[in-house]
Amino acid sequence: MSLVVQKFGGTSVADSDRIRAVADHVARSRRAGDDVVVVVSAMGKTTDELVRLAAEVSFTQPTREVDMLLSAGERITMALLCMALADLEVTAQSFTGSQAGIITDNVHTRAKIIEIRAERLLATLASGGVPVVAGFQGVSTDRNITTLGRGGSDTTAVALAATLHADVCEIYTDVSGVYSADPRIVPEARKLARVSYDEMLEIAATGGRVLSLRSVEFARNHHVPLHVRSSFTWEPGTWVDKEDETMEQAVVTAITHDATEAKVTVAGLPDRPGVAARLFRALADRNVSVDMIVQNASLDGTTAISFTVPGFDLAVSTEVSEALIPELGATGVTSDSNVARVSLVGAGMKTHPGVTALTFETLAKEGINIEMISTSTIRISCVVRADCAETAVRVLHTAFDLANPS
Ligand code: ADP
Ligand code: ASP
Ligand code: MG
Repeated sequence: MSLVVQKFGGTSVADSDRIRAVADHVARSRRAGDDVVVVVSAMGKTTDELVRLAAEVSFTQPTREVDMLLSAGERITMALLCMALADLEVTAQSFTGSQAGIITDNVHTRAKIIEIRAERLLATLASGGVPVVAGFQGVSTDRNITTLGRGGSDTTAVALAATLHADVCEIYTDVSGVYSADPRIVPEARKLARVSYDEMLEIAATGGRVLSLRSVEFARNHHVPLHVRSSFTWEPGTWVDKEDETMEQAVVTAITHDATEAKVTVAGLPDRPGVAARLFRALADRNVSVDMIVQNASLDGTTAISFTVPGFDLAVSTEVSEALIPELGATGVTSDSNVARVSLVGAGMKTHPGVTALTFETLAKEGINIEMISTSTIRISCVVRADCAETAVRVLHTAFDLANPS
């Protein structure tokens, strides 16, 4: 007998038929003898709809109230699923994040879990029941309802799996696993049988939204094996696990893209020590996480620095940079949200020269201009125009022959 955490994303519980199908699956798992803890997302596009409603009634949107509103979506699903389970004679009890003992910090709309007091869930399990937990939410140390950031139900599921020492955390979604690229953009993308935590972290960090970044960090830090699979076909999916000798070390495992990044350029900066330090300290003090940075070669003693930030940080980044123009002696600041970052991820990259060259040649052949580049041992990222991103993903997928097992 195992303890399994099963998380169902928005499309998996989008309507009543889907909720009954999920209830059937949970009932089957119980009959097979497993203990099950369920984590649910809001139905379909409910969270988007709530975000839209908030924007319709308010331009100030106090974040405490935003969290209270958004947490409602998952509450609907958990109650409906418990009712469907009752019809199948499975005893189930729904729990909000707060009732499930998920304690977070006080940062509304992107709270971090700091502790889980799982007594109530354990009591339900001990009595043979199935706890059904609302994903994406918790209660802060100052007793307000918080949410964990978009896609946060994955994090709830993995955090519960770690706390309860579950044997596996199953993430059910609308694709059959983690693919070599988003299968909606590259139809011939290949389903990966296994991916290491490190590769999955890079995939999640660079736009492969099939798992939230925080959930993968949690899984790696607490050694929780993840199984990403489809709630439509229920076939075996992708295992995300510790890297070992049996794992294939493809040179390139996946190609991702992220159109939510934006670029800021500060021009006419004097080329002397301390200028970059001043700029990036000011950005850090406003909690902006800068991703890529490029500094041009100095011309007549002046230079330009471009950097990318998450789209939602663009306004504050531009404001901070503009405020520094007089102090730094810069000539101007431009911002550009029409960019996207395309990334290649692969653990085998570190031992294979030539990946960068083939990447650049492939994009050049397609006439796609590379505006910024950054590399790590297992990733190459290029910033390109946003409207070129999907083409870039497709041509790179073909160039590295990712549709065929290596
Ligand atoms: P859920 O609502 O179940 O959490 P998400 O929409 O958050 O689902 O994530 C699943 C989606 O992730 C898929 O529909 C797919 O379009 C997208 N995706 C992006 N990159 C990948 C990838 N490399 N492999 C699989 N899916 C991916
Ligand atoms: N419902 C939330 C969202 O849409 C959380 C989640 O689905 O993971 O972001
Ligand atoms: Mg998701």
